[in-house]
Amino acid sequence: MKSSVIPVFIPHLGCPNDCIFCNQRRIAAPKVPDAQDVREIIEDGLRYAVMPQISFYGGSFTCIDTKLQEEYLSAAFEYVRSGKADSLRISTRPDGIDEQTLARLRSFGVKTVELGAQSMDDNVLLLARRGHTAEDVKRASRMIKQAGFELVLQIMPGLPGADIGADMQTAREIAELEPDGVRIYPVCVIKDTALCDMYERGEYTPLTPDSAAERCADIWEVFIEANIPVIRIGLNPTEELSSGAAVAGAYHPAMGQLVRSVRLYKKAVQILDGMKPFDNVLITVPRGRLSDMRGQKNANIIKLHSLYPDAKIEIKEDTDQKQEIFIAKI
Ligand code: SF4
Repeated sequence: MKSSVIPVFIPHLGCPNDCIFCNQRRIAAPKVPDAQDVREIIEDGLRYAVMPQISFYGGSFTCIDTKLQEEYLSAAFEYVRSGKADSLRISTRPDGIDEQTLARLRSFGVKTVELGAQSMDDNVLLLARRGHTAEDVKRASRMIKQAGFELVLQIMPGLPGADIGADMQTAREIAELEPDGVRIYPVCVIKDTALCDMYERGEYTPLTPDSAAERCADIWEVFIEANIPVIRIGLNPTEELSSGAAVAGAYHPAMGQLVRSVRLYKKAVQILDGMKPFDNVLITVPRGRLSDMRGQKNANIIKLHSLYPDAKIEIKEDTDQKQEIFIAKI
């Protein structure tokens, strides 16, 4: 019993166009399920999950043909009504939201609506061929919240035309919409997409995993300050992405950990710079955060030693510590 979400993938269904970065057939399951498939996926998921949320991911749910939407929702809602699942969750586009749609979702027990906002810069949205504007994101977000749904917004740092300034501005504007959660997916160049063609023609320079981690760490601070949970950073690793479908960009099987490590490194440097001069210091972190503080392959330790070559820096875990990082001279 480990998961509280049962994901049902509906690859590319309902999408009016191909966003340049997207190849849902590679990211998610290739087959489009029917209602009976949905039941089987849920039955299987229920073997591992207690009162899960059943989540339709991978396409633009509210843009699917209404009859098929209702077949999916109805199949999943059976499990909410029988007390086996908590609620439903769908993922869609900002321009796929209107009053009628929200009424339909509510009548089938949907609790959470995720919107792919991706950017709040209209030029970036245009270059990504999203087919909606930043104003659509604002309008849809307000409607979803006013209708009483939980709102989760997804953003994609590193799209063509988006520098760090544009991505930080997106984060601030997304935070102003007060979502209940945010997913941050730094751009990964996936085979068989228009973005991959641009990359291969030399028209697009993607972020690397390291530069994406730097950018996402700064973006994350915006949401921490606004008290908005970041529920995911980076694509879920899959065998296909790891074995060649992710051609370039910010794909890393442990992107979340990379970002957590960069955040802790930045915090450590900020504190240490304010403590100068020092010879020996002890950095402590709460239980479970030691590997984040050290960084992958001890990257943070190596960087700290090269930044403060004359100091002895020790890193330890303090099981009672609540603060995410504490540094003392010793
Ligand atoms: S709307 Fe979403 S699922 Fe559809 S093509 Fe764009 S990114 Fe992919």
